[in-house]
Amino acid sequence: MQGKALNGVSRFNTVTTCNKTAVIVVAAGNGVRAGGDIPKQYRLLAGTPILTRTLARFLDHPRVAIVLPVISDIDRALYAVAASAFIGHAKLSDPVVGGATRQASVRAGLEAVARSEPDAVLIHDGVRPFPSHRLIAAMIDALAESEGAVPALAVSDTLIRAAEARIVGTVDRTGLYGAQTPQSFRYATLLAAHRAATSELPGREFTDDASLLDWRGKAVTVVTGDADNIKITVPEDFIRAERIIGAPASTQVRTGIGYDVHAFTDGNHVMLGGVRIPHLRGVLAHSDGDVALHAATDAVLGAIADGDIGTHFPPSDPAWRGASSDRFLAHAAKLARTRGAVITNLDITIVAEAPRIGPHREAMQLAIAHAASIDAARISIKATTSEKLGFLGRREGLAAFAIATLAFPATDPI
Ligand code: MG
Repeated sequence: MQGKALNGVSRFNTVTTCNKTAVIVVAAGNGVRAGGDIPKQYRLLAGTPILTRTLARFLDHPRVAIVLPVISDIDRALYAVAASAFIGHAKLSDPVVGGATRQASVRAGLEAVARSEPDAVLIHDGVRPFPSHRLIAAMIDALAESEGAVPALAVSDTLIRAAEARIVGTVDRTGLYGAQTPQSFRYATLLAAHRAATSELPGREFTDDASLLDWRGKAVTVVTGDADNIKITVPEDFIRAERIIGAPASTQVRTGIGYDVHAFTDGNHVMLGGVRIPHLRGVLAHSDGDVALHAATDAVLGAIADGDIGTHFPPSDPAWRGASSDRFLAHAAKLARTRGAVITNLDITIVAEAPRIGPHREAMQLAIAHAASIDAARISIKATTSEKLGFLGRREGLAAFAIATLAFPATDPI
């Protein structure tokens, strides 16, 4: 292409020629390289289809009059979902069905939008959800002095030529740019170029519209693109896209279960959930015998698949004699944090005929939350008896079950 000087925002507010701008959003591809089993333009990005995000950027832009999506005939149901956010939107045209190639799809869009008689047309990839307000305006402005414009960024990586996994040469990157979209054109010029290409070069597929205009000998202006204006192609692009929109990173959820029993013995209190509760009996234990904290500790260790409480605090080790059990849970929670995990929930059920748990529930939540360094709202304490059945029913001891739910950063992005 014949690039003029880069002209990002320099000609803001100088447009006089292009009053009516249409945008053709090309979304007819069936690419699944980004993973999943539906075309990537319909995949969810932080809960919203990518195409919905792309369309919104243009529908919200005050200098865009018409937005026309080009889709695949077999994706009508997916499109209906993606466009449901814009029902009744005056700027959004009904989609047209694309062709076998990108070029054919753009041509279909250009012909369909003719009845609206636009002066300018922007051609945009449906899987580029982040064209900035500035860039869209700059692309329209560029048409004041040019028949076509392309947003591009200078190539910063060293370029190599390779064959069969070996370098066969390096490429001088001077003057090399990576082309983005939206590319902008005077409507009549681009329509004529497409019609000419179809009739004069029927077998040739141009990779984008700027190169098609270049083939016609028309000057195409290069406008500074945006680094965030990425095209979502491979799974890693979803991670980057989530970062751009500030969405929480994808997570994996894992759970762990814990169970503990201690027998009653002589004494005057029990420790439960980190709370000292006066009682007619004590518990027989190497540590303080807190079944709720022991079960919770094992649940957290289970979720991170790192042994059990006996692995980390062997009963044979005198260091843990009479130990306060909040240290065990604090250690397990720290192990989870070092793996990047967050304890999202600890659900504990204490099984005992006595003592009564209800009056101490809130104090237990606070003590456990403190030990695990999480919010008390994430701690659940439940209590039940065993209806006088079995060893618990005979008041020979007490038991606790716990389930921990942990959120891990996803290593597999999809
Ligand atoms: Mg125990």
